[in-house]
Amino acid sequence: MKVYDVIIIGGGQAGLSIAYFLRRSELDYLLLDNQLEAGGSWLQTWDSLKLFSPSNYSSLSGWAMPKSKEEYPTKAEFVSYVSAYEKRYGFNILRPTEVMQVEKKQGLFKIKTNTGIFYSKTLVSATGTARNPFVPEYSQNAAFIGAQIHSANYRNADDFKGKSVLIVGGGNSGAQILAEVSKVAKTKWITLKEPSFLPDDIDGRYLFDAATQKFLGKLDDKKNVSHSISLSNIVMIESVKDARTRNVLQAVRPFKEFYENGVIWDDETKEPFDAVIWCTGFRANLKHLEPLGIVENKKIATKNTRSLKEPNLWLVGYGNWTGFASATIYGVGKTARQTVKEITEALSKHIN
Ligand code: FAD
Repeated sequence: MKVYDVIIIGGGQAGLSIAYFLRRSELDYLLLDNQLEAGGSWLQTWDSLKLFSPSNYSSLSGWAMPKSKEEYPTKAEFVSYVSAYEKRYGFNILRPTEVMQVEKKQGLFKIKTNTGIFYSKTLVSATGTARNPFVPEYSQNAAFIGAQIHSANYRNADDFKGKSVLIVGGGNSGAQILAEVSKVAKTKWITLKEPSFLPDDIDGRYLFDAATQKFLGKLDDKKNVSHSISLSNIVMIESVKDARTRNVLQAVRPFKEFYENGVIWDDETKEPFDAVIWCTGFRANLKHLEPLGIVENKKIATKNTRSLKEPNLWLVGYGNWTGFASATIYGVGKTARQTVKEITEALSKHIN
């Protein structure tokens, strides 16, 4: 029976970052990913999506992303970079392999997949959030007969031409999809509070500089910077600036409930809509780890990336709870380096 030192589940930017640092160690690792090709969940995002920071702030560890044609790289440019990154380092990846369940057997992880069973001493879960879209609960949701999609399934505005569309969510996804759909449809934008727009000359670099400062211990935790600087601050990319010029970036607070043809506002007035696009984020995709009995409130308790209850398990890339800015291209490298250091130490203790 072959036993790997480390198995990584998920071949997006987080899984690849771990593979990058493992490749430099002596450890025997295998990465399992359910996609047919490189790119992680970027393969499924909408057609016009652009990164919110320039290529030199969108690079994985070890090899800088080539300069993009325009200031902000397109998703196609990023996917092609990730694909070249994988080839450059020749990572040990098995694709497509879907991990269904992880169990613990005699001190080892038993990883059940659609292509067979694998065993490892340590495990890194880097399965992202894209497969677990979040939609808030609204009264009478089921009564609404119009279309409802999550941003995870949005590709372009074609299906919404000439329609009346409600767009829910005050982050970058909401603002970018609103900007696109409002060109062909009548839109209304719902956000919990007034959306926070970054100044025009500030983009994702600002978040990353803060992440670096925090990682180096130069930021005061008491000021709670990780909460005040967030990916939900809207970056004024060209399409969003254009929407501002067209005066469509006006958000209103949530409605009370759905009715058959639309929504009912707090003052009981009804407004019809043909469709709702939920741009309301994601939760960690941890289903495969449920048999371990350590998933609580859709999370696993960690110290940095290491599980507290299962110390041979690390979780990478899910959000600030697995390292500040670890769910970003720039930020994940730092947590990956630290994670591999911890894995190496744990395994050396295991062997001695
Ligand atoms: P994913 O990319 O989701 O990779 C996880 C991989 O694991 C996927 O291949 C998935 O199919 C696979 N997988 C899942 N479950 C299993 C399983 N059970 N078995 C096997 N494989 C499995 N960050 C930035 O830095 N800059 C940006 O401009 C930016 N823009 C964003 C725009 C949007 C709309 C979104 C949603 C996010 C954006 N982010 C951005 C954040 C972040 O970079 C992405 O969410 C990124 O995809 C996260 O990478 P990941 O590797 O953690 O997860």
